[in-house]
Amino acid sequence: MSETTGGDQLDASGCLTPAGIAAVRAAPPGEAPEPLARHLSACPRCQERALAGGVPRGPRRTTRPPLPSPGRLLVLLLALLAAMAAFLITLRQLSGPR
Ligand SMILES: [Zn+2]
Repeated sequence: MSETTGGDQLDASGCLTPAGIAAVRAAPPGEAPEPLARHLSACPRCQERALAGGVPRGPRRTTRPPLPSPGRLLVLLLALLAAMAAFLITLRQLSGPR
């Protein structure tokens, strides 16, 4: 008999313990211990923990994109101003002399 009943793989509230998550992750697809698989299919919290590897998530690392260089920023600013000026000139021509 090698039937797994959960045991130390489920905690008091019925969620997977780190050992349970390790067991699910170690098992081949479709062959995770049944009580664990049944709980996992119904518990988003355990699904997330299983996907994260059973370890508590550390602070999320965000890599910020580098700022554009000052020269490029100036070119963008000038292009923006030119577009606005062209728009205003066109608008004035379209509205016609009063
Ligand atoms: Zn759970």
